Amino acid sequence: MSKIIASAAIRGAHKIVDRAGKKWQEAMDKWGANEPVGFPNTAYYLPIIYGILGIKVEKLGDMEAALKRCKSLLPPPVRENHPLPYLAPALDAGMATFFAEEIIEAIRYLEEPDFYTKQEEITDNNIWLGAADDVILRKRGIEFVDGTAPGFAAICGAAPDAETAKKIAQELQAKNLYVFMCAEYDNKRFSEQLIEAGVQIGWPVRLVSYGPDISAAVFAMGFATRVAMSFGGIQPGDFRKVLIYNKDRVFSFILPLGYVTDEWYANATGAVNWGFPTIADTPIPEILPTGICTYEHVVSNVPHDKIVPKAIEVRGLKISVAEIPIPTGFGPAFEGERIRKGEWYLECGGGFTPMVEWVTSKRMDEVEDGKFEVIGPEITDMPPESRLPLAIAVEVAGREMEEDYEPILERQIHHLINYTQGCFHNGQRDIAWLRVSKELYEKGFRLYHIGSLLHAKLHQDFGRIFDKLQVKLYTEEDKVREILAKAKAVYAARDARIEGMTDETTDTYYSCTLCQSFAPPHVCVISPERTGLCGSYNWMDCKAAYEINPTGPNQPVPKGEVIDPVLGQWKGVNEFLYKASRGKFDHYNSYSIIHDPMTTCGCCECIAAVLPLCNGIMTVNREFTEMTPCGMKFTTLAGTVGGGVSTPGFVGHGKYNTCQRKFLIGDGGIKRIVWMPKMLKEEIADRLKARAIEVGVPDLPDMIADETVGTTEEEILPFLEEKGHPALTMEPIM
Ligand code: SF4
Ligand code: ZN
Repeated sequence: MSKIIASAAIRGAHKIVDRAGKKWQEAMDKWGANEPVGFPNTAYYLPIIYGILGIKVEKLGDMEAALKRCKSLLPPPVRENHPLPYLAPALDAGMATFFAEEIIEAIRYLEEPDFYTKQEEITDNNIWLGAADDVILRKRGIEFVDGTAPGFAAICGAAPDAETAKKIAQELQAKNLYVFMCAEYDNKRFSEQLIEAGVQIGWPVRLVSYGPDISAAVFAMGFATRVAMSFGGIQPGDFRKVLIYNKDRVFSFILPLGYVTDEWYANATGAVNWGFPTIADTPIPEILPTGICTYEHVVSNVPHDKIVPKAIEVRGLKISVAEIPIPTGFGPAFEGERIRKGEWYLECGGGFTPMVEWVTSKRMDEVEDGKFEVIGPEITDMPPESRLPLAIAVEVAGREMEEDYEPILERQIHHLINYTQGCFHNGQRDIAWLRVSKELYEKGFRLYHIGSLLHAKLHQDFGRIFDKLQVKLYTEEDKVREILAKAKAVYAARDARIEGMTDETTDTYYSCTLCQSFAPPHVCVISPERTGLCGSYNWMDCKAAYEINPTGPNQPVPKGEVIDPVLGQWKGVNEFLYKASRGKFDHYNSYSIIHDPMTTCGCCECIAAVLPLCNGIMTVNREFTEMTPCGMKFTTLAGTVGGGVSTPGFVGHGKYNTCQRKFLIGDGGIKRIVWMPKMLKEEIADRLKARAIEVGVPDLPDMIADETVGTTEEEILPFLEEKGHPALTMEPIM
């Protein structure tokens, strides 16, 4: 390693560790050793310290051990005639830097609780997002695992001007990379430059403004470390595996823009431990020979228009971006883009005009592959800020095509249109909503391009199940209403099929083992009346997925002889479970939380827990981050029961499942629910009401307590008594 870099990195590390030590001492004097510290809403404590050292920092006093490790890792400053190789001591210095910066940032959360927004998006008066909580980690981290995001670029400093910043950011977005931003150069910051250039920033568009200082780099490294623990199943403290996982699977790199200070060197050197190289725009010394990183460690003096391709090359990233024949960017990075009032050229649906999306199968001779028709006015016939009715009718044909696949294809329309840079899309079926930005119109985007992109992407991803696809886009109201009526009849028939199905009259259930990559023994068995606990798979979806991919994670499970009809246990399911869990489980019950419940993995939408004092159960959804009456927040619950095990008293489930007829029916069913967050109650209100009437307690929704009533069993019990909640008179739950 270059001596210049090693000396600078070690100098920087000394400064940062000293600062952390001082900050910590001040905080100890002020608050004392028992003061709780940490990043918001996470089960990973200070994630780098936890992942690398295995130390749980929960209180100020716990930081002492981490600081001691910093000091023991810190090499002495490099002397002029130092004869030793520099690499190992510099890497250690970089590691100590990250521990120290986590301490500095955690103390900042204590001193200034509102310094960061603590959410996915920036607010009107704060653009600094701070550490990603576990909700964001789940949602975004999985993209690093399934390949929707290959990795991230960590940008320190600022580009020479706002336009260059915009260009670099959009180039990275188009490669599906996340952009993590921190630090300042020349009184400018990259995040602020993007705002100046009119670019939307925040997690939804993958442009993450972590913080204004270099120490915010730890939020990026902590995120990578948690991905390894959460999705790679790596034990905290197993630092070798954490680092190797990142080198092999998270394709990230550091882009320092502007003068590289000692502190920046310390951070960049730290990142080399994770296998992340540095690509700089200034003429710093290069470190070309390979070793830890896949190729070079430091490449410098790269011009701004070459820096993104250079970084991708150095990190050894193979990106296959499919050619979509539309005049704008396309990919998941554009999914979270919003288009506000005044920014859209055309708006369809959203309650303003009728809009419908419908995939239907036709005979082979009725479909001409790749034909797109706009029937009615095109966007060019309309002045800016117009509204049009819209029906998107996708007609497919193929020997392998079946009616059951129609909803699977239809479900793609939402995200595919949303992948288009300059398009906003929401909802599906007859509640869809589309906005096309003025900028996109200027680039030459027309309505028929919706046909081109659906044709290209659906062929690419689902080409196995159909041969031909054409798209008709209707924009005249009477035509749209005609399609709407036809589509509605089909939707009703589809819903009736799953709603009308029962577990009793179905012989084959389906498995899902998709989550075994991070919860190894976990097996979801999905029956018509118990959907997958992540909410993404119901029985119909699994059946279609199996037909599309017969060797995939969704396999048919012949349910076999009934062992227990009330708790939901079948011989065939048990046999499948034994094999699929590799001998870890020989049985579980689909309809019980008390008696050997189904296994739970970390991505469940909700977790139910028994409340013994109330003789009932509570359930909490992932988005609710506050305390719950079982004494745990969602993250703690997920950390405790979410590793793919069966934990009596707790079970994960999907939101939809809450109002399905078999929901915990073995323990008394929906009448046992005594508490759930208000937001969840509102989200499932219609189905909850219908189910309440069905079980003969029409007022049940009003009898269920929420956080406005209380967040302990003692607080909610008087409310349940006053309302005469049915759980109180049911047989004892335990
Ligand atoms: Fe599949 Fe279950 Fe994981 Fe959902 S939670 S992806 S259904 S294994
Ligand atoms: Zn899961």
